[in-house]
Amino acid sequence: MKFCTAINCMDGRVQLPVIEYLKKKYRVEYVDMITEPGPNKILSDRTDQKLIESIFARVKISVEKHGSKHIVIIGHHDCAGNPTDEENQKAQTQNAINVIKNKFQNVEVIGLWVNKNWDVIEIN
Ligand SMILES: [Zn+2]
Repeated sequence: MKFCTAINCMDGRVQLPVIEYLKKKYRVEYVDMITEPGPNKILSDRTDQKLIESIFARVKISVEKHGSKHIVIIGHHDCAGNPTDEENQKAQTQNAINVIKNKFQNVEVIGLWVNKNWDVIEIN
């Protein structure tokens, strides 16, 4: 079985688009889903260390127990947990990518943006 890891928003609208996109992109059978409201903001701001540790503890299980080689951080349009514009969210996602890369080596880390049509776009 092959897994990848998504740090996604809890918003129900972005679950299936992200799962479908990542299953296709990485040819994995399963996407381990770690959800918080506006996780790109949480990881970019770095104000809630306890929550970040909780997120990373879950990522660690996915990487170490499920052998995930890809960690993906997601931001999306109309996010109730992170009500800021696309430009700012993309900058947060970029910061979040760096924070994750710093913690997890030997895995690929990318960012995704889910737009108002629920299309998934890669941020690198
Ligand atoms: Zn959201």
